[in-house]
Amino acid sequence: MTLDKKIKVDTVDLPNSHATIDVLRLDLVHPVISGNKWFKLKEYLKEARQLNKKALLTFGGAYSNHIVATAAAAQLRGFKSVGVIRGEEPAELSATLKDALNFGMELFYASREAYKSKIIPADVFEVYNEDEMYIINEGGYGIKGMEGVKSILEQIDASVYTQIVVAVGTGTTLAGLKSAVGERQKVIGISVMKNNISLRNEIEVLLPTVKRGQFELLHDYAFGGYAKFNQELIQFMNDWYRLTAIPSDFVYTGKLFFAVNDRFAKNMFSEKDKVLVIHSGGIQGNRSLPKGTLIF
Ligand SMILES: *Cc1c(COP(=O)(O)O)cnc(C)c1O
Repeated sequence: MTLDKKIKVDTVDLPNSHATIDVLRLDLVHPVISGNKWFKLKEYLKEARQLNKKALLTFGGAYSNHIVATAAAAQLRGFKSVGVIRGEEPAELSATLKDALNFGMELFYASREAYKSKIIPADVFEVYNEDEMYIINEGGYGIKGMEGVKSILEQIDASVYTQIVVAVGTGTTLAGLKSAVGERQKVIGISVMKNNISLRNEIEVLLPTVKRGQFELLHDYAFGGYAKFNQELIQFMNDWYRLTAIPSDFVYTGKLFFAVNDRFAKNMFSEKDKVLVIHSGGIQGNRSLPKGTLIF
């Protein structure tokens, strides 16, 4: 099975302006390894294979798209997988963690302090030796992640776009896109974390020197911080779905589409701009919301 299948582009008329945008539907890549996560993982998987590693180990929260994508990708490529999960083991596992278990991932819990320092719980070493494991950063952050992302735009003619807009967690995806596009094409990131001031630097170090400093980060659309949301965002996501039939997630892409729509409404983009919005997936994370919150 290949995950590099043909990727679809949807053209969407925006509700509050006369503008049209294109949406790159990475959410359709795979039901679980959706969106940017497959691209971020693929070079790590290659290296793990070259180094003859037995298991992939990575870090994430109970609803992490990266955890479940790593579990699924590991199974698909014949690796064992280990997830180090932030916080105590919950009484009831999240749907995401249940999926990860079903993909054969072994889960280990780390206290918030230990998690912060990315300490691997001692129990893990009862199962694997250190040199059997290939460790992937939280969120797939890193050069290899960035390298994998470069191929996202290969299947479309991306040269026609003046702006490319993407949701930003670690910034690895933004860095890969920036590396792949021409100098005159603007890459704009919508940060989903509150006041993430170290973000710019974390992205810069992934970029070749000539591309540094040439991207824009917007911090006004985080809705209070990572995985925070309010009624306005939920309402927008439901309206957006009614209008476009494109589902979004409340952690990343809901905020992304909200931001794009808002920027057009405030004339910060012009109708002459040819904007490509990257739908990075993440729909599985909506399962943490109470049933009925979203109409899709
Ligand atoms: C992980 C994720 C992102 C953020 O990607 P980064 O490369 O960490 O910036 C964006 N959108 C979705 C849906 C994600 O799951």
